[in-house]
Amino acid sequence: MDKEIVDVLVIGAGPSGCVSSAFLKKNNINVKVVEKTLFPRLVVGESLIPRVMDHFDEAGLFPALDKMGFEKKLGARFMRGDEVCIFDFSDKFGEGWNWTWQVPRADFDNTLAQEVINKGVDLEFETEVIGIEFNGTDSIATVKNKDGKTKEIHAKFVIDSSGYGRVLPRLLDLEKPSKLSPHSAIFAHVKDINREEGVEGTLISFDIIETEVWLWVIPFSDGNTSIGIVGPTDYIDKLSENGDTTEALRKAISLSDYYVKRFGDIDFLFEPRHLKDYSCSVKKLFGDGFALTGNASEFLDPVFSSGMAFATESGMLSAKLALRQLNGETIDWQKEYSDYILYGVNVFTTYVKEWYTGNLQELFFHQPENPDVKRKICAVLAGYVWDKKNPFVRIHDSAVKNLAEFIKLEKLEQQ
Ligand code: FAD
Repeated sequence: MDKEIVDVLVIGAGPSGCVSSAFLKKNNINVKVVEKTLFPRLVVGESLIPRVMDHFDEAGLFPALDKMGFEKKLGARFMRGDEVCIFDFSDKFGEGWNWTWQVPRADFDNTLAQEVINKGVDLEFETEVIGIEFNGTDSIATVKNKDGKTKEIHAKFVIDSSGYGRVLPRLLDLEKPSKLSPHSAIFAHVKDINREEGVEGTLISFDIIETEVWLWVIPFSDGNTSIGIVGPTDYIDKLSENGDTTEALRKAISLSDYYVKRFGDIDFLFEPRHLKDYSCSVKKLFGDGFALTGNASEFLDPVFSSGMAFATESGMLSAKLALRQLNGETIDWQKEYSDYILYGVNVFTTYVKEWYTGNLQELFFHQPENPDVKRKICAVLAGYVWDKKNPFVRIHDSAVKNLAEFIKLEKLEQQ
């Protein structure tokens, strides 16, 4: 069998794998990326949050992305009937980027991957990891290309960024069910012919149909828009009972008084995709000679668009630690990687859970707004979930719950 020898093997060329491989290459590490598919490929996850910009910038990938003219995302709008709550990323607590993008991922990920190649990374498409053996921190991965030809890749470190491919969690028995209750989604793109000019047409929106059921609307700069429905798996299963996802998404759009006029009659650009029970977790985030990043580790929920931010945060951090390890340092992966990443995951888990209990919705739609609370929650929604100066990060679980309880009591007293 053919054999290649590298310092670091990255599995998957999604945003997580691109950030880690670009960073490693920038630091003169011999890094190889293998990607199962041929890009461009369709993938969900189109609304970014500002924290990702730090990572694209640090990896040297920002200028190529910026040139593409993707739609700028300045905040997020949440709607419940006539109630509206808009978060503006320029009005948030603490430091950080004030904007980001909403993107068709096929184009976005392709731009990222091509830029990684431009920077000299050896990225092999249509090549998948099918097996791996570890000997201490050294590993031998077996990969297979589209013609069925196999070869060995010997690496001193492996970063698994294989998304839902979940290569190492599967091969090393690291899968663990998510703590979140099962939710599913159906989504598609449309040519947004009824889009209004100006902000309304470009704003990302979350339209609440029921406490646990909501619609996303993510306009792109190319005139297309992504629409998705999210809800408990039972609810989404019922919506698509006969397996017809087109009819299911149409039904979902008809439930939105706000969007039915804009999207009610529009054809979908592809057969709507059904993503069932999308939340996932792992027993551990690292082992001797490997780290799991992005969706190959933990995925929570699309509601606050945190997926890509965790993918790039973990991609960047795993690459930095791998670099130090390759340079001879002993790394405490538990403390420097797992504990750090899981801190942010736990903060977002609270927000996801409290969204689905309805508590966060109480906070969002409470009038009059409390500008200080809003700024602090806005920083969380922008992805700055490691800033312990922010009480809505530091004491996330009690802060959200207690404030929601207080609002509910206040409402009762007013009745
Ligand atoms: P991916 O982008 O999935 O990339 C992994 C790559 O690995 C793929 O290209 C795959 O082909 C490759 N691969 C798989 N197996 C192998 C193998 N054996 N060998 C080699 N390569 C392999 N996130 C957001 O930030 N914003 C959103 O609005 C958002 N909405 C979402 C909506 C839904 C319904 C869901 C389910 C998720 C959403 N996400 C969102 C999450 C987002 O999709 C992911 O968090 C993000 O794509 C993770 O990036 P990644 O690089 O880890 O994985």
